[in-house]
Amino acid sequence: MLKEVEGFIFSEIPYGETSKIINVFTKEYGLIGIMCKGAKQVQNKNRAFTLRFTYATFNIYYKENKLSLFHSATIINNLKNINQDIVLISYLSYIVDLTNQVIKQSRDGQIYDDFINTVLKLENKLDPLVLTNILEIKYLNHLGVGINLDECVVCGSQKNIASIDGDKGGLICLNCLTTEKIVNKKVIQLLRMYYYVNIKSITKLDIEESLKKEINFFLDTYYDRYTGLYLKSKDFLKNIVSL
Ligand SMILES: [Zn+2]
Repeated sequence: MLKEVEGFIFSEIPYGETSKIINVFTKEYGLIGIMCKGAKQVQNKNRAFTLRFTYATFNIYYKENKLSLFHSATIINNLKNINQDIVLISYLSYIVDLTNQVIKQSRDGQIYDDFINTVLKLENKLDPLVLTNILEIKYLNHLGVGINLDECVVCGSQKNIASIDGDKGGLICLNCLTTEKIVNKKVIQLLRMYYYVNIKSITKLDIEESLKKEINFFLDTYYDRYTGLYLKSKDFLKNIVSL
């Protein structure tokens, strides 16, 4: 039976002479493989709907735990701005890789919404670093290593939070402070905002450069220390935007 599913193509794999298999992240079924017969051929009418990073509604013959079969598709957003900008493409590559890892750990439907909304905000040219950090902090719970943003990671006190430390795993209060430097209070407030904000509702992100960098450094250290993920696309991104 023909089914309509909304999804985003994470990758495409050649299959035989003329066909390919696309791996599509869908809200309804998570990541699924779809066989696209003939789609590798340049003149095939479906070729444009089977390229990596396509966001579309797919009409497929869905098969549980097997390859589904492509029938047709309609583009939802052609992501024109992202596709014209190597920096944005690099951010998107990293976000896709990261999401691919996160959905191996959790089937929470919120992951799809957060992912798609981040992509659409990237397309609307909102700050890519801030968007990526927002998604990263939201994903930590799904990866089983969420950050407690209310208390000191050493003593549990909720008062006099003075620093954050990616290696120690969170907030540090004044009493527990050793070698960490005291951070601007705005950094802590922003981290909480990143965590709680509904990505879809964001209309602007004007955040001071130094605060942005501080938060990114914290999340980068935290990811290295606690998630066990190593993604080449992140190294690539770091080189491109010199983070
Ligand atoms: Zn403490």
